[in-house]
Amino acid sequence: MNHSFNLHTHSYFCDGKEAPEEYVKKAIDLGFHTLGFSSHAPVPFKNKFAIREERLTSYFSTVRDLRNKYRKKINLLLSLEIDFIPGITKDFAEFEKEGDLDYTIGGIHLIRKKGIEDLWFIDGPLQERYDEGLHKLFNGHGRNGAEAYYSQLHEMVATQKPDIIAHFDKIKMHNKERYFSEEESWYKDRVWKTLKFIASETNCIMEVNTRGLYKKRADTYFPSPEILEQVHHLKIPVTLNSDAHHPEELNKYFPEAMAMIKDIGFKELVYFEGKTRKEQPI
Ligand SMILES: [Zn+2]
Ligand SMILES: [Zn+2]
Repeated sequence: MNHSFNLHTHSYFCDGKEAPEEYVKKAIDLGFHTLGFSSHAPVPFKNKFAIREERLTSYFSTVRDLRNKYRKKINLLLSLEIDFIPGITKDFAEFEKEGDLDYTIGGIHLIRKKGIEDLWFIDGPLQERYDEGLHKLFNGHGRNGAEAYYSQLHEMVATQKPDIIAHFDKIKMHNKERYFSEEESWYKDRVWKTLKFIASETNCIMEVNTRGLYKKRADTYFPSPEILEQVHHLKIPVTLNSDAHHPEELNKYFPEAMAMIKDIGFKELVYFEGKTRKEQPI
């Protein structure tokens, strides 16, 4: 069966490229039954990626209007991809209430180290920016940086309870095995510990995110197939998203990802109908 939904997309309300309606039209062309909008939630400092606070209500109403307009053709969902930076960002529950969101996506893009004002931006197109932040916050020490990433993610999952965890091992993207290796035992242990916590203490869904591959910033999915085998073993539910920033990216690498997901042994993907979780057999 073709993969026919996407819960992780960015329009021109944040750092995406087109109006939300363009994504709806493309999703209908692709035969999707469900499309979720998940602009980056506002953060309380100057940045180029998130929705501005004053545009938030307009984002909410735009998606709701589209939901009504297209309700006979496609199931449209309202969400936000929310950053978690301890002591800086708002609680996910506040955004959830404000927008009456169907689900939340939690993602770590900026790492905070106590006592240092600058944040480490681990995402975006520039490897130099990653390197600069790692040096500034952790003296270029890859293990300390990666440990900080996973402990911030762990804290996000424990305290904010997002429905979906975005790009679980994003920290690897600009590292490219330079500052730490994903093969080292401390790294594998840290990942395993985080996954075990997710499986036993939360209801979170793990997304398989194809963006690193089609943007050629990573040579595999977020998370890697090795991690997804553990996700499967621990019975953590999964979904498949492309993290599209353009309508043309709505189904990028979906056939390849579906084959990989099935090969690992997953039998269904999770999506939403309104606020209700649904399972799509694969
Ligand atoms: Zn993200
Ligand atoms: Zn995203």
